[in-house]
Amino acid sequence: MTAKILDGAALARELRTEIAKAASELTAKGHQPGLAVVLVGEDPASQVYVRNKVSACEQAGFYSEMHRLPANTSEAALLELVTTLNHRDNIHGILVQLPLPAHINSHKVIETIAAEKDVDGFHISNAGLLMTGQPLFRPCTPYGVMKLLEKTGISLRGAEAVVIGASNIVGKPQAMLLLQSGATVTVCNSKTKDLASHCKRADILVVAVGRPNMITGDMIKPGAVVIDVGINRLPDGKLCGDVDFNSASEVAGWITPVPGGVGPMTITMLLQNTLEAVQRTL
Ligand code: NAP
Repeated sequence: MTAKILDGAALARELRTEIAKAASELTAKGHQPGLAVVLVGEDPASQVYVRNKVSACEQAGFYSEMHRLPANTSEAALLELVTTLNHRDNIHGILVQLPLPAHINSHKVIETIAAEKDVDGFHISNAGLLMTGQPLFRPCTPYGVMKLLEKTGISLRGAEAVVIGASNIVGKPQAMLLLQSGATVTVCNSKTKDLASHCKRADILVVAVGRPNMITGDMIKPGAVVIDVGINRLPDGKLCGDVDFNSASEVAGWITPVPGGVGPMTITMLLQNTLEAVQRTL
């Protein structure tokens, strides 16, 4: 079997066109969606991420502002900035890029963002709302994965879904969203015994670990939908996922490439969450 490609770049373009249209209608009524992005320090990867987020906002017709703070910014100064942004009417979404420098308590910062402006969906109230089946904001990467799964047309009801990785930003919220869609969900972590046996049962396999090519074709159920969240940089500078694309695509029914799969969907869902934040204020 040769898997069909789940093209995240194409789906992201489609969704961003719809988002831009909705943003233009809101702007015409005086409610331009606004996102504030806060970056502390000079981490090179974080700089690329925030630049991409701000540029996606501009392309979608959102107002966006970028707050670049030096690495030695105090926690108190950062909390003060977040509080100011919480009170700004033209800012509907606030994103503080993680990781923060070690002297800043990132939990405290995230809890200071007003839950209704927490477009990353990391605030403890938003995690709780998601857990109890009444999500306000779905964390962007798992939300994007759900959109990709929707695109396959495959029903999740009763499907065996296996999520590899249990982080607060990807694995855990992903498991919740799959569960709420009617899938039977298994979550694996670094202590899981016999990972391959779990993978082989999966109709839907979502891999979010951060280890290059760890899932190979022999670990995949024929016809499964394989979603590769991982982004790894190889010594030669190339990007690869957590799934060995060549062997996996011989067995899977659907597969996301890296790059061009989940990545473009993550920023798209950030725009979608910001749009939803505006719509809730009207
Ligand atoms: P993370 O916080 O480091 O979490 C990794 C998870 O993988 C942990 O739950 C860990 O288990 C588990 N794990 C580690 N080794 C394992 C093994 N051998 N078998 C099974 N599970 C194992 O990472 P993350 O933030 O979730 O990100 C995961 C990957 O996705 C990274 O490559 C990241 O760059 C990528 N990512 C991509 C996007 C995107 O937009 N495409 C967005 C976010 C993240 P324990 O809990 O036991 O430690």
